[in-house]
Amino acid sequence: MKSFAYATALSTDSARQLVADHGAYLAGGNDLLGLLKDYLISGPNILVNVKSLPGLNQIERGDKSWTIGALVTVAELERDPDIAKVFPGLHEAAMEIASPQIRNVATVGGNLAQHSRCWYFRQRDVSCLKKGGNLCYAREGDNRYHSLFSGNDCISPVVSSLGTTLAALDATAIVLRDGKETRLSMAELYRKAWTEPTAHHSLNPGDLILRVEIPTARTASAYLQVSDKHTFDWALVSCAAAANIAGGKLNQPRVALGSISPVPHQVEAANAFLDGKTLDDDIVSQAADLILKDARPLAHNAYKVPMAHALVRRTLLKLKS
Ligand SMILES: Cc1cc2nc3c(=O)[nH]c(=O)nc-3n(C[C@H](O)[C@H](O)[C@H](O)COP(=O)(O)OP(=O)(O)OC[C@H]3O[C@@H](n4cnc5c(N)ncnc54)[C@H](O)[C@@H]3O)c2cc1C
Ligand code: SF4
Repeated sequence: MKSFAYATALSTDSARQLVADHGAYLAGGNDLLGLLKDYLISGPNILVNVKSLPGLNQIERGDKSWTIGALVTVAELERDPDIAKVFPGLHEAAMEIASPQIRNVATVGGNLAQHSRCWYFRQRDVSCLKKGGNLCYAREGDNRYHSLFSGNDCISPVVSSLGTTLAALDATAIVLRDGKETRLSMAELYRKAWTEPTAHHSLNPGDLILRVEIPTARTASAYLQVSDKHTFDWALVSCAAAANIAGGKLNQPRVALGSISPVPHQVEAANAFLDGKTLDDDIVSQAADLILKDARPLAHNAYKVPMAHALVRRTLLKLKS
């Protein structure tokens, strides 16, 4: 492993100064240390441990919104009984992540900022587009885990289950950028990965996720995923849905899918179609048609289209329970 300095930051300002242009924030380390050990990233010259930053490990429960600090662990989301009641979809997503050991240390901020799982990207000797090379090996190679949608030549999908669920919940990430707090929707947090092959998300070097804010307006939420393995695995396809349900009708519904696009996949036409509807088999099927209308399967990932269709239907119907 390339040598690096190590420092623990005690304030967000010092974290930003220490990380400067060539450092990296270290939270649970699940992703970052793997990238370093496998020589997949060319820096950083300093790892700045952010786990001692004050206040970022709190969950604050308000009437209109909750804030979840970037250092809250996935296990804390999973175990909090109020999260299970107020945001059941978030609780379900947390329960599906990796294994109990990983969830105990994996943080919300690190989960949102994790890097691609594309198996070509994860090979140290392969220099694909994402690493600044000139070829996407997955396009003509084994693309069974890749995207059905992309705005650029890289087809590596977003794999953050929390990012997908927070997109359906209309959450905002509060990011310390250039000394100021900047608010990014989940669409904005990942937008750069849609257009730029080298991007995993829209964070600039030195941007620090402080917390996420989730409105409580949507009283129902649900999350489902399908994986090769029952546990300790990323999703082949994941789906989150959220809405307020009054008199059996959906209000402000949102559906987001993970692992099929470089960003949480959301289709405004489907959300608009669902607004005011009562959930039944026909309605959820029409919504799934809209969501997947423009899918562009590759040689080995066409199975994701019917899988995503079924997940959208099941996740939406789960909102009723
Ligand atoms: C076998 C396995 C299965 C998995 N399955 C899933 C799954 O199904 N769904 C899923 O979502 N994840 C899954 N994961 C990924 C895991 O959840 C992430 O690796 C973990 O959440 C990363 O969090 P961390 O705190 O360890 O991040 P770190 O490894 O510390 O950091 C990850 C990245 O985020 C940056 N970072 C960390 N904190 C911040 C911050 N506050 N602001 C800005 N940047 C920051 C770091 O610099 C680094 O680039 C799986 C992992 C494994 C090993
Ligand atoms: S999908 Fe992206 S990460 Fe994977 S080989 Fe292609 S360019 Fe690289």
